[in-house]
Amino acid sequence: MTILPDWLTDNNDCRELEAMLRNRSPESLETMAARSRAMTLRRFGRTMPLYAPLYLSNYCSSGCAYCGFASDRTTPRRKLDEEEIRREIAAMKQLGIQDILLLTGERTAAVGFEYLKRAVDIAAESMQRVTVEAFPMSVEEYRELAGSGCTGITIYQETYDLLQYEALHRWGPKKDYLYRLATPERALEGGIKTIGLGVLFGLSDPVTDALMLYRHARHLEKTYWRGGISISFPRLRPQTGGYEPTHPVDDHLLARIILAFRIAMPDVELVLSTREKPSFRDGMAGLAITRMSIASRTTVGGYLEGENSGEGQFEISDSRTAEEFCQALRSRRIEPVFKNWEPAYNGPSRNTLPCS
Ligand code: SF4
Repeated sequence: MTILPDWLTDNNDCRELEAMLRNRSPESLETMAARSRAMTLRRFGRTMPLYAPLYLSNYCSSGCAYCGFASDRTTPRRKLDEEEIRREIAAMKQLGIQDILLLTGERTAAVGFEYLKRAVDIAAESMQRVTVEAFPMSVEEYRELAGSGCTGITIYQETYDLLQYEALHRWGPKKDYLYRLATPERALEGGIKTIGLGVLFGLSDPVTDALMLYRHARHLEKTYWRGGISISFPRLRPQTGGYEPTHPVDDHLLARIILAFRIAMPDVELVLSTREKPSFRDGMAGLAITRMSIASRTTVGGYLEGENSGEGQFEISDSRTAEEFCQALRSRRIEPVFKNWEPAYNGPSRNTLPCS
């Protein structure tokens, strides 16, 4: 029997957050928006750091019911070789990207730790910031990844609802709820500097998931106060396999969740990806969100091959070019930021490029 840790179920310090999430009146949303906007402006100013994902591979050993890369899909499998990784990165740099998120599925014989580490090595040669969203690793593996220049990992629990988690993760290593839950701690132990948390909204009761996500973030803040935390708000999108959300989250509720997190966690970076449509992204940019993806491709080889690169992990909603998106930010008096730190800030990175 799986027993959840006390810090994940203790409701004592999230009563204000719960009240904000459960109050569905339009007036309360307006009040929250004004409060969130002021807090975001005070803490983060009028800037928006931007990043882009690079899908290294669509191999996966897990069977997540909601994912286009699950191992029972008939999607042709592919991984980028070293030359292809270099070419994709060069294409991303042409768009101005300096901050890259490398993605793979769960570990397989074709794509394991050594492959991922090599990809980090290559990315760190020319990108200013390299982060990874891949399979959970050991402390020692995270230490090696950090030595190669990886400064952050993203690891979503997807849903904190144990029963729903067990039903949706049909097979593979991702079935192990507690091992995944402890991944951020292993990464921080191994020297990774920032952790991205999130749930995939649509899989389970959104308010319960949001409250447990908050407790997870607070637990990490208290236990690893030197680590940086960011929180993302992905919503289930159409994907190969056709899984339909059992708990759909509409725009109003998603906005409420994001605003509530800004108010409850004023210093935490809040992230919104191109899963969301342009109008929603533009609206949230000035209100609460402080980091966004841009010009994303969710296929393996997507930056050079475009639509010829096959099916992505999911469909994106905001397909604006980097230039169009930056223009939209500027029209709201928000400055797009491709790089706002020096390699030295990141510690032992292998990045050797001069600052641009
Ligand atoms: S969500 Fe990740 S682990 Fe699950 S099937 Fe997709 S790629 Fe694999």
